[in-house]
Amino acid sequence: SNRIMLGPLVAAIDQGTSSTRFLVFNAKTAELLSHHQVEIKQSFPKEGWVEEDPKEILQSVYECMDRTCEKLTQLNIDISNIKAIGVTNQRETTLVWDKETGEPLYNAIVWLDLRTQSTVERLINKTPGKNKNHLKVRTGLPISTYFSAVKLRWLMDNVEKVHEAVLSHRAMFGTVDSWLIWCLTGGKKGGVHCTDVTNASRTMLFNIHTMDWDPELCKYFDIPMEILPKVRSSSEIYGLMVSKSGPLTGVPISGCLGDQSAALVGQMCFKDGQAKNTYGTGCFLLKNVGTKPVMSDHGLLTTVAYKLGRDKPACYALEGSVAIAGAVVRWLKDNLGIIQTSTELEKLAADVGTSYGCYFVPAFSGLYAPYWEPSARGIICGLTQFTNRSHLAFAALEAVCFQTREILDAMNQDSGIHLSQLQVDGGMTSNRLLMQLQADILCIPVVKPSMPETTALGAAMAAGAAEGVSVWSLNPEDLTEVTSEKFEPQINPEESELRYARWKKAVQRAMNWET
Ligand code: ADP
Repeated sequence: SNRIMLGPLVAAIDQGTSSTRFLVFNAKTAELLSHHQVEIKQSFPKEGWVEEDPKEILQSVYECMDRTCEKLTQLNIDISNIKAIGVTNQRETTLVWDKETGEPLYNAIVWLDLRTQSTVERLINKTPGKNKNHLKVRTGLPISTYFSAVKLRWLMDNVEKVHEAVLSHRAMFGTVDSWLIWCLTGGKKGGVHCTDVTNASRTMLFNIHTMDWDPELCKYFDIPMEILPKVRSSSEIYGLMVSKSGPLTGVPISGCLGDQSAALVGQMCFKDGQAKNTYGTGCFLLKNVGTKPVMSDHGLLTTVAYKLGRDKPACYALEGSVAIAGAVVRWLKDNLGIIQTSTELEKLAADVGTSYGCYFVPAFSGLYAPYWEPSARGIICGLTQFTNRSHLAFAALEAVCFQTREILDAMNQDSGIHLSQLQVDGGMTSNRLLMQLQADILCIPVVKPSMPETTALGAAMAAGAAEGVSVWSLNPEDLTEVTSEKFEPQINPEESELRYARWKKAVQRAMNWET
């Protein structure tokens, strides 16, 4: 047959909050050759609860792999050229399963979930000075519903099956990366129970200085260390794909990064001071701060950016997380029905080109950075008789941009250095109006790579560069130049400041809603 000769290929599993993707890249050129994507169902069993089905997540990975392999075969590309697979995933989302049956013991509790709010309040009230940053020196994180430890605590306290499995030493805890790697490397028949440093750094059980699970943190949350996965670097061979994986059987899984870390790698932000913002379900701005952790005085998280090999140093990042970005688009679609698809939003908002003084603070899950206020709730203000759904659509897009501005301001204050442009990626960046608005509101250019799948690219790079695979070079001189599109600010800074000041007023009204 006319097989195309391409050299080594590297694949990535990208398991996000709203969908799963499998993508295959050329390791020499970083070109995306083929991919497949499957939506993931979310369930909201009670107000503030967000769950996903671990088996559906795993099934979606198999489906994406099968379909991508079919597409490659149709393109006459030899699947046996795939030399490694990387995993990148929604972070913090918490799972517990039974290592003997291989069965999940509860749904995955998604990062956005708020069921632990009262636990979090109790924990904070117990700390000296009611300080939510009590554990920040060790973990880089404030005590919040966001991170895995409190979700795991909830599972152990409220789900009988989890409680029993822990007592009888059959329970395994993991974030989505651990669950997938365990299943794909054999599950109950010898699957590898591991995670990488970036995912571990989002659990609140991990010490970002010693780079391992912290016995005192585990004691604090009363979590037995035997249920935790082994912590590995982000780029090494964890295990091989087992026979359920069809033509990919035997391929090493050799990269693992939380989605935001993967995007930082995929955007090639390897230098101290480089930053990227990813617009997905939430919005996540990460700035590489080098090999020493930097603590923020302005509500940002300190997190492990990556550790690309067992003997390589860990790099850290400052992170600003926004809970609700693309999720507000989903809300306008599913809850209000003012659009049928996410792509319709752009046209609707562009029809008016202004919010007409309407401000929308989508604090559905409280506010994350820089406020960390779990009791904040969403508000829409500044409505008049004239306001219509187009203005609301515009205000929703503007909300994403204002939230990013707040984080960038915090970062600039922490470092005293002003970012001169912002690199962006994620599902929402296909919205060109959003990109222009973002440049206008930040008053700096916004730069978007023409290959949008930077999260998957980062995971593929980590997998391809792993010791024993070595088909992808991470040497800066060898890295492929990426083509990109630049959005320049088009409004004057005074107008931008005025709108931003009004946004801040709206945020104050959304804070402490219940008290
Ligand atoms: P995740 O990694 O969190 O699953 P993605 O990067 O896949 O997210 O982005 C999906 C999100 O982006 C969804 O919340 C969706 O509502 C939003 N989105 C996708 N396309 C558009 C668009 N053209 N305009 C606005 N929002 C969009």
